[in-house]
Amino acid sequence: MKKIAVLRCETVSEVCPGVGCLKAFHERRVHFKGTEEDAMLVGFFTCGGCSGRRVSRLVKSLLKHGLTTVHLSSCMLMDGDYPKCPHIDEIKKTLEKSGVEIVDGTHH
Ligand code: SF4
Repeated sequence: MKKIAVLRCETVSEVCPGVGCLKAFHERRVHFKGTEEDAMLVGFFTCGGCSGRRVSRLVKSLLKHGLTTVHLSSCMLMDGDYPKCPHIDEIKKTLEKSGVEIVDGTHH
């Protein structure tokens, strides 16, 4: 069974409660389209601030709960209301090392 976590921007989390990401998962929309009905959301966490110091630790912890896939939140990837994350490549490398599937985006 697919076990998903959403990784989001610490800075943006100060102004965003994450409703868009969570709704997109539950409604299987946008970057969750085609996700199996029995897939579970097992984590919803922030990077811990620039330059993503919390990522490695929390992914390690989520792997103990069967984590298979990490969705990078749309706010980390888009240039718009918020600037795109300048540490995205580093964060992706950390995720790659852990062996999880990486999906770009959530609700945009
Ligand atoms: S590392 Fe990227 S995702 Fe994390 S707070 Fe900084 S800009 Fe946001």
